[in-house]
Amino acid sequence: MLTPVECLALEPALQLDASELVGGIFTASEQVGDCAAFCEGLTFRLRRQRNVEWLLGMDVIGPVRSGGRLVAVDTSKGQVQADRFVLCMGAASSTFARACGFYLPIYPLKGYSITVAPASGAPVLRHSVTDMERKLVFAPLARDAHTAIRIAGIADLERNNTTIDARRVDILRRASAKLLCIDTAGDVEPWCGLRPMTPDSRPIIGWSPLDGLFINSGHGMLGWTLACGSARMTADMIDRKPSQSGAGAFALRRAA
Ligand SMILES: Cc1cc2nc3c(=O)[nH]c(=O)nc-3n(C[C@H](O)[C@H](O)[C@H](O)COP(=O)(O)OP(=O)(O)OC[C@H]3O[C@@H](n4cnc5c(N)ncnc54)[C@H](O)[C@@H]3O)c2cc1C
Repeated sequence: MLTPVECLALEPALQLDASELVGGIFTASEQVGDCAAFCEGLTFRLRRQRNVEWLLGMDVIGPVRSGGRLVAVDTSKGQVQADRFVLCMGAASSTFARACGFYLPIYPLKGYSITVAPASGAPVLRHSVTDMERKLVFAPLARDAHTAIRIAGIADLERNNTTIDARRVDILRRASAKLLCIDTAGDVEPWCGLRPMTPDSRPIIGWSPLDGLFINSGHGMLGWTLACGSARMTADMIDRKPSQSGAGAFALRRAA
């Protein structure tokens, strides 16, 4: 636990007076990464392995069942058959589950981010900073020649609407200008996405009631953080490797 003065000494990029802070919690193990760069790197590795087939630019329309088992999915470019399927359609996972005949408690929670450049000569943001009162996160992102700042937050209950509302972007822009020294005249690179939320904020990882369909979805606001661990658990469970300790905590039918 840090005092306001200790917070400002640790993170000089914050343009605040110590009297505006009550204090902070510093987690030395916390890390920041660029999820787009991570996905590009992962794609590069998988392409080199040559045992992955990419079927891009097609919509999954619905399940194809035979004898109580999922045997294929209908897509905008025809059927795709497989022995086993993993349901990981983000906030749209519950719609697919409904078509498969079961209820999946995953709801879209819309959030926004902007990516801005710091004002020239301003101290560089060095840590991921969470403003608990505004419920916003400020994180440094290494770009080619400089460090950009990504500001993320906001939770709107809007079913499957991914249009960017300029008023929500403005909230992030104003908060960034208050807390950090940013280049307000520059481009703010707005983005919005739907967090696939579950009622208890834990993902759902496990076999579905429909044979042949495994669920790895509902990671809410921590989908990237949890991605590799969830993928490991998914692969092990499908391979029927010894059960993961705590796997029951992520099952569809878990105790509340
Ligand atoms: C503003 C914001 C900030 C965030 N910050 C963080 C963070 O700092 N750290 C963190 O860990 N997480 C963060 N998250 C959460 C993270 O983005 C999500 O948890 C994560 O993206 C969920 O991954 P997913 O693969 O389950 O779903 P998605 O990323 O939603 O991917 C689902 C995919 O399925 C595809 N799909 C859906 N329906 C169909 C269909 N019918 N046919 C074909 N394809 C389909 C979609 O196009 C999409 O590509 C943030 C989210 C938001 C909105």
